[in-house]
Amino acid sequence: MNKLRARHVFLGARGFLSPGEIQWDQRGIIVSVRKARGNVEDLVVLPGLVDAHVHLQTDPLPKIERHFLSWVRAVLAARNGRSKSADVAAATQSLRTLLASGTTAVGEIDSTGLSPRALGRVPLVGRCYQELTGFHLDSDGAVARIAERAFAASNHCLAGLSPHAPYSASAALIRTAAKQRCHLAIHCAEVPEEQQFLRHGCGPFAELLAQLGRLPAGYRPPGVGAVRYLHSLGVLGPRTQLIHCQELERGDLGILAATRSPIVVCPGTIEWFLRTPPPVPVWLKAGLEVAIGTDSRASNTELSMRRELSRAANFWPTLAPATLLQMATLHGARSLGRSDHGRIGRTARADFCAIAAFTDHPGQTLAAFVHGEAPIAGVWLGGIRQHRHRVEPRAHGP
Ligand SMILES: [Zn+2]
Repeated sequence: MNKLRARHVFLGARGFLSPGEIQWDQRGIIVSVRKARGNVEDLVVLPGLVDAHVHLQTDPLPKIERHFLSWVRAVLAARNGRSKSADVAAATQSLRTLLASGTTAVGEIDSTGLSPRALGRVPLVGRCYQELTGFHLDSDGAVARIAERAFAASNHCLAGLSPHAPYSASAALIRTAAKQRCHLAIHCAEVPEEQQFLRHGCGPFAELLAQLGRLPAGYRPPGVGAVRYLHSLGVLGPRTQLIHCQELERGDLGILAATRSPIVVCPGTIEWFLRTPPPVPVWLKAGLEVAIGTDSRASNTELSMRRELSRAANFWPTLAPATLLQMATLHGARSLGRSDHGRIGRTARADFCAIAAFTDHPGQTLAAFVHGEAPIAGVWLGGIRQHRHRVEPRAHGP
């Protein structure tokens, strides 16, 4: 049996177990968490961080672009002509970078079907949502598009579908994806222009789709904002992640709470586009699960969940450090449908992120961690300590 004894172990809403001992089996699954006896490592052990929304394959754009519509065009242009090997190499490097910042699980938007290959190289667990676009697709086209994107999922890399957004995936594509009864990830209510397009059928998204030849003749908008539109398609629920939700409208919060749809916020993207941070404390109070993602390097300075946590701590200073950590662990895991992650407890994977216990008060260490101050002392994946963080902690009695 493998074990880790530490000065403090974070148990989520139950606080800290001090000192704590975690045991796991040969498969890397936790079998017990109890009070430690004897020598312990000088660590505060946290669940591995969960990057609930990332585009691993996306490289930084050649030119910094902060206007959203121009940014969309630049991302589309950058994707043209990319080789498969470049996509796999970018995804692999992204996973290594995330692991170094304490991330042990990802919700990946896979635009090529190649991300499971990268997850085979760097063994974080995750869900690979296959990206679906096609505003012109009818039901038959949607069925064909989804069939193209099937891959052999495993417990390590679960399957999901990501009809990209209400302005880039047709109603038929979104509905057909939902009929597959798998987990969904949808960019939702990200910018005012998206709401304008859905309400009135005009504006920059209508122009872009027309230029791309993807706006069906006689298109009639649903006449409501993104949340109500997705609700009318019957796709909201605990298995559907909604990403961003910057532009919620009156009544949307009630719909999201009633359908128990998780939201993923991406602080780096909020900062990149100079957006106003949405009212996350209000959402949490309303009972919503709010997870955190890095999004891609096209709209972020780096892929680091630690950086996202410190941005979140600055954006929402009323949130307690433990709440922010829960968003970056448990809420993220739940939004991905991964009950084996985001917590330290029986049946969860032995995936940890540990920091040096520099005071006797784990709460202080945690506060320093969410503000980006306490360095990571070790990361474990499936019970195996990763070599990148070879910090030798002092062993001493409790
Ligand atoms: Zn995204």
